[in-house]
Amino acid sequence: MEYLELDGSRGEGGGQILRTALSLSMITGTPFVIERIRAGRKKPGLLRQHLTAIQAAQAVCGAAVEGAALGSPSVRFKPGPIRAGDYRHAIGSAGSCTLVLQTVLPALWFADGPSTLRITGGTHNPSAPPADFLIRSWQPLLRRMGVTLAIELLRHGFYPAGGGELLARTEPVHDWQPLRLEARGELCRQSAIGIVAGVPAEVAKREMQRAASQLGPLDEALRVLPSNEGPGNALLIVLEYPEVVEVLSAYGERGLPAEAVADRAVSEARRYRDSGAAVGEHLADQLLLPMALAGQGSFTTPALSSHLKTNCEIIEKFLPVSFICEESSRQARVSLE
Ligand code: AMP
Repeated sequence: MEYLELDGSRGEGGGQILRTALSLSMITGTPFVIERIRAGRKKPGLLRQHLTAIQAAQAVCGAAVEGAALGSPSVRFKPGPIRAGDYRHAIGSAGSCTLVLQTVLPALWFADGPSTLRITGGTHNPSAPPADFLIRSWQPLLRRMGVTLAIELLRHGFYPAGGGELLARTEPVHDWQPLRLEARGELCRQSAIGIVAGVPAEVAKREMQRAASQLGPLDEALRVLPSNEGPGNALLIVLEYPEVVEVLSAYGERGLPAEAVADRAVSEARRYRDSGAAVGEHLADQLLLPMALAGQGSFTTPALSSHLKTNCEIIEKFLPVSFICEESSRQARVSLE
């Protein structure tokens, strides 16, 4: 079979182009070559997270791989048959465990039996889905699509130390169900989760107070972790609707007041809340691949992000699907019929 040629600098120019290609190459058996990997990023080429995603994919399907080295701008990947198993991978930095998990899980939905996947690295990173987002927001929607999935956060990992651990159990999918998320319904509950590891609990309390002062009354949950899991601080705002749960996040940084951290998460939460759309910006680009596997589905989202547009383009190269993306001044809608 001919290698599909991909340009890693297209659109968003991030790691998602590589990760989506890995997932769909395994599922469809299509080999690919990708050049200019992450050309749109400050440090282009393969970082540890991407290298681990390639190695994890290789372990699942026995792929022939060339160019898999730190900093490499190009990779050739020829997949073999997908095998169920108990897989373990260590990123070796605070690179995102959730993104590695999202790369390999779709392949395991086409395996010959149940699998487990254990990844160590970062679990709460800026520019990636926090583990709580995967568990509370992404996982329930996949279950509605017919996926058997249980993700556990075994240990938190923050930048720069890493050391977090995620465990996922999954099974082959026999009956894909289309997901239709046109309206989210009325807000049922809003909460804030303040997480600290090796950082005073007061910081998380101030973040949650600030979030409540901006968003109105919310349930507060303080998660004080052993200090050897840190240093790290995250604020998660969880918005629960009948149809969907959204998790908006922000991270503590040296020199950034707790209130400013909270304001970052609050502005994300407001943008989503005010849009009236069913699916937030990040969840939207992460639903495209499962939706394409199900062959049907639709959702509304605040706007068409560059991640979303680029991911549609890559998915359409591997699968015989064509996303319909419509955008008005208030909202966007993505569908597959
Ligand atoms: P890339 O930048 O190409 O490596 O892709 C990053 C992925 O992480 C995309 O799927 C984003 O939607 C997702 N992502 C980034 N930030 C967040 C966040 N705060 N919450 C959930 N997902 C996120």
